[in-house]
Amino acid sequence: MKFTEEHKSLAETVKDFSQNEIKPFVEEWEENGAFPAHELFKKMGNLDLLGITKSTEVGGMNLDFSFGMVFAEALGYAADLGVITAIGIQTDMATPALDRYGSVELKEEFLKPSVNGDFVSAVAVSETSGGSDVAALRTSARKDGDDYIVNGEKMWITNGTQADYFCTLLNTSDDDPHNNKSLVIIPSNLKGVSIGDKIDKIGQITSDTAPVFFENVRIPQHYRIGKEGQGFKMQMQQFQEERIFMSVSCLVILDECISKTIEYCHERQAFGKPIIYNQSIHFRLAELQTEIEALRSLVYRACENLIDGNDVTYLTSMAKLKSGRLIREVSDACLQFWGGMGFTWENPISKVYRDGRVNSIAGGTDEIMLNIICKHLGILPKK
Ligand SMILES: Cc1cc2nc3c(=O)[nH]c(=O)nc-3n(C[C@H](O)[C@H](O)[C@H](O)COP(=O)(O)OP(=O)(O)OC[C@H]3O[C@@H](n4cnc5c(N)ncnc54)[C@H](O)[C@@H]3O)c2cc1C
Repeated sequence: MKFTEEHKSLAETVKDFSQNEIKPFVEEWEENGAFPAHELFKKMGNLDLLGITKSTEVGGMNLDFSFGMVFAEALGYAADLGVITAIGIQTDMATPALDRYGSVELKEEFLKPSVNGDFVSAVAVSETSGGSDVAALRTSARKDGDDYIVNGEKMWITNGTQADYFCTLLNTSDDDPHNNKSLVIIPSNLKGVSIGDKIDKIGQITSDTAPVFFENVRIPQHYRIGKEGQGFKMQMQQFQEERIFMSVSCLVILDECISKTIEYCHERQAFGKPIIYNQSIHFRLAELQTEIEALRSLVYRACENLIDGNDVTYLTSMAKLKSGRLIREVSDACLQFWGGMGFTWENPISKVYRDGRVNSIAGGTDEIMLNIICKHLGILPKK
């Protein structure tokens, strides 16, 4: 991955934005239980930060995914995985399929305002009955003239209470589970759409996550993205950008865990010397930084492959698995070296320990990533 001056300039812009427009407000947004998505996204839209990889027809910059990845990595300077993930929903989780397969009219109505920051988007796949087994989801749409009537409920929807629309995966026929699904856009202000209470999560408190209910919601069939029955495949493709985003956007946060812990261990004395002089500590920190760099290289390689048009499922699943595990490993190890202070909120590590836990669950669990990797290796037992 060779970064050009354009990549570096984008990274600087996003770093500045993250440090000045997000990081200083995180505490206040945690107290409020959510960040103001419309306000923040409008600021980002004004700086052309929400459509880096999107087509120029909708106001995007039409740059290749290496720029999207640089954007996601530099968001790490916001130092809050809640807001970072919520931004990723807008840029890389709820909108890639719409950009790739949506009709001109659909993009004009929903993608353009997502790129300029007027709309907040959400992706609605998971359900109360299960998130891992996407093929088994139950929300469905039946045809009525030129419309669909949608019934069902979605669970764990990030940006759920603030979203203007949901990019929703649902069943549109009785075909087999991999060919009976479509991706449709469901505006949140339609009759029959209701949003449940914000879920009381362990971490990522700045982002709002909620259940969404659809009761006889009427939408025109042209709110469907692409062909009917292709939704499962489109969502699986859309998951790849999501998984690269999740893997790359935690790297700066992990780097900072290490650098801040090194700083602390230089200052902190025990037995007449700084604790960093203990080999068990400096070796461990060096080992973890090596793991972070290895993850960085893996994600960059996945990104290069994506740009070349290859199937990146194998590499992105590995990156997602590794990043989810590494956030837990790095934050746990670093926290230990802060001693008693590590078990307070008076250090920069505890928040990562708390907020990073969900990265092994959301966007596909570690076990599902392992299943995919095993499938590619030909070692997943046949059903
Ligand atoms: C904070 C948060 C935000 C989220 N945001 C969104 C969002 O915006 N949109 C959205 O659609 N979803 C979202 N999700 C849902 C998330 O993707 C699901 O929680 C996740 O896919 C797991 O589904 P589940 O919770 O139903 O767990 P289950 O599918 O019930 O799994 C439970 C356990 O069983 C394991 N398991 C299941 N199948 C297998 C298997 N075959 N082999 C081995 N182990 C297995 C799982 O790995 C897991 O450990 C979010 C979740 C959280 C917590």
